[in-house]
Amino acid sequence: MIGKQMQKKRSIKSVTLDELTAWFSGLGQSAYRSKQVMQWLYGKRVKSFEQMTDVPAAFREKLAEEFSFEEIKPVRKQGSKDTTRKFLFQLGDGSFIESVLIPASPSLYGETSDRRTICVSTQVGCAYGCKFCASGLDGFARNLDAGEIVDQILQVEEVSGEKINNIVFMGMGEPLANYKNLMQAIAIINAHWGVALGARHITVSTSGLAPRIREFADQPLQVRLAISLHGATDEVREQIMPVNRKYNLETLIEACEYYHRNKKQRVTFEYILIDNLNDTEEQAHALAALSLRLEAKVNLIPYNKVEGLPWERPSIRRQDYFLGILRQHKVVATIRREKGHDIDAACGQLRLQATRDKSFAENADTR
Ligand code: SAH
Ligand code: SF4
Repeated sequence: MIGKQMQKKRSIKSVTLDELTAWFSGLGQSAYRSKQVMQWLYGKRVKSFEQMTDVPAAFREKLAEEFSFEEIKPVRKQGSKDTTRKFLFQLGDGSFIESVLIPASPSLYGETSDRRTICVSTQVGCAYGCKFCASGLDGFARNLDAGEIVDQILQVEEVSGEKINNIVFMGMGEPLANYKNLMQAIAIINAHWGVALGARHITVSTSGLAPRIREFADQPLQVRLAISLHGATDEVREQIMPVNRKYNLETLIEACEYYHRNKKQRVTFEYILIDNLNDTEEQAHALAALSLRLEAKVNLIPYNKVEGLPWERPSIRRQDYFLGILRQHKVVATIRREKGHDIDAACGQLRLQATRDKSFAENADTR
């Protein structure tokens, strides 16, 4: 096979209203048609072009020739209602990603308490190799396309029967390393014709790709930004986050200042507490200084043990001591007591189980 035949069809869930309108106009159709399609997709949540019954059959066929309706397939679920639930999905090419549904919680990323948050993946694997993280253990495979990102929300809503009102890009992968598809997915998630979730209910988390943070600050949407800091000095951060050698703390903080100035929004620092590594008094004071400089909020996350990695979470007493120092400095800080700790909620872990357990991977599509 050569040329066009080789090319994979674009997923209909990767397409914006404007793009679809342009496509329909090539067929002599008005914008009305693309609105109909989006209403079927995101309003009624149909599963095929055939189900779009008020679109004339000839155009449904044309749609099917041009776009795919490929879905990500839920293959495993962990957790139950009112707890953190994890969903393992298999993609069209057989690889696995995961999404996490976190029930209402007052301390998670924002003000309102009645929110159901979904944590979505943006890549298969991760190239950044942070030493504490399960997502990067098997390296990087590929970027998700926008449709695969959007579909995580549609599938989780369908399987759980719940309406999601908050989304965090904190699943597997580095969102800002898949910038184009990330922003396309956010456009679809945010749009009134799409998932219709307000930009302030969307948070992108990054390990610190400074130039991309600046680009992100220049785009118009008021999407929130979280930084995986995990070390408050270069010396400590470098030990666990290789990305710090490329963009050191000063470079990262300056990019955050740029975002803060441009967006008039505070960033959030995520800070995993790892026993005897980054949980010292010295780190707490240094973290406080960085937070005050940026007016950043701090989210402390007791480390979630990953099998095969040497790190441990500190005792509750030590966690509280660290938090106390931040508060002495009048930093706005919370500890996220992981609701999903019991089911390995830190992203990347369910997939790791699945890909390492060969018999599971082979049987995955039987559910
Ligand atoms: N690549 C992006 C987003 C995905 S990681 C980033 O690094 O920000 C989402 C968050 O989960 C990050 O803050 C990451 O550091 C954290 N995380 C990864 N492994 C963890 C673990 N074992 N315990 C607790 N948090 C973890
Ligand atoms: Fe990748 Fe984020 Fe995990 Fe680091 S913490 S390896 S950037 S997913």
